[in-house]
Amino acid sequence: MKKCISDLKNGELQGKRVLVRVDFNVPMDKQKNVTDDMRIRAALPTIRYLADKGSKVILVSHLGRPDGVTEDLRMDPIARRLGELLGRTVRKLDDCIGEGVMAAVSALENGDVVLTENVRFHREEEENDETFSRQLAAIADVYVNDAFGTAHRAHASTEGVARILPGVCGFLIQRELEMMGRSLDDPRRPFVAIIGGAKVSTKIMVIRNLARKVDTLIIGGGMTYTFLKAQGFEVGKSLVEEKFVEQAKGIWAQLKATANLKLIMPADAVITTGLVAGAPSQVVPIDRIPPDMMGVDIGPATVALFKEAIRSAGTILWNGPVGVFEIEPFGRGTNEIARALASSQAVTIVGGGDSASAVEKAGVADRITHISTGGGASLEYLEGKDLPGIAILQDK
Ligand code: ADP
Ligand code: MG
Repeated sequence: MKKCISDLKNGELQGKRVLVRVDFNVPMDKQKNVTDDMRIRAALPTIRYLADKGSKVILVSHLGRPDGVTEDLRMDPIARRLGELLGRTVRKLDDCIGEGVMAAVSALENGDVVLTENVRFHREEEENDETFSRQLAAIADVYVNDAFGTAHRAHASTEGVARILPGVCGFLIQRELEMMGRSLDDPRRPFVAIIGGAKVSTKIMVIRNLARKVDTLIIGGGMTYTFLKAQGFEVGKSLVEEKFVEQAKGIWAQLKATANLKLIMPADAVITTGLVAGAPSQVVPIDRIPPDMMGVDIGPATVALFKEAIRSAGTILWNGPVGVFEIEPFGRGTNEIARALASSQAVTIVGGGDSASAVEKAGVADRITHISTGGGASLEYLEGKDLPGIAILQDK
């Protein structure tokens, strides 16, 4: 168990300079207005807690993929939005290291909140450069990581700095670890995982790791067709990763041989001639895909099959849409699954960037137990990997 800010004593926070790595990588329009402040709002509990404890709160984040100092990617609009949300001024510093920053930080009063400049203006950030980490560490006494979305990257502000300063997690990361950790290690059973998405190659490790833990493994989405092809079925023009057909064959055999694992594959598919809205589509049994058509969604028989497993589950973990949900009619299966999760009594966990947006799109996000905020980070967590930005934090 990782130490959280709530495990620190008042004396460890009051009057201390606390460097908090947040994920303020938010979308903005041309006029530099923040168009979606969800990530800023998500960090508020940690920021408020530290400010209330009398810490000098120094926030640091990356924004986009700058190449050196990039005017368009300065943090000023974010500081403004954060200020509005907190109901107080949040000063934006011109850098995240160096004398100017040191001076600004030493002038802070207890409970003040400042935001430093985009940490990726320094190339050393992503190189996890030790000197740069030391410079970052020099502006603070304590380090808090609350940026789950970048915790799978060993960068200076996510990992290097915690080699120097005592590091703990904030409330966002704590919740991710609690929800995902508990569902993986001590789930209410039956434990059902639904794995979809586009490519089997990106989910091999997830499938392997989950197969050891779940009672039922449901496969859907684009990867279905690589598995089908591996078993010798005609899949037409469906998405297939030719290079992974052999591997898929091996994985399939392993899954089949896993004791006490129930495997569920789609029984039918929505097929079409091309990936365009309004293209004619029809439903066929999964082994009847014509050579000139492609599978783009699960069919009604599959929806029923998946729902049956969902209905009796104690825990459901979902990663990967089961159809091309971005294109209007092909999102039906994904929508149905999202709604089934929402109505279920089970603990429901959704991981993955596209899965999270699918749940939002279905309008049921508030009825899911936990939607992970990290795309790549949640995937690596589901693979059973240690995330460097979390592993480096202090244990309880
Ligand atoms: P996540 O971000 O939740 O981990 P992925 O990135 O693995 O999910 O997969 C999402 C993508 O999978 C979506 O863009 C969706 O269009 C695609 N997808 C789902 N089903 C199919 C399919 N049958 N054929 C092609 N692509 C699919
Ligand atoms: Mg994705």
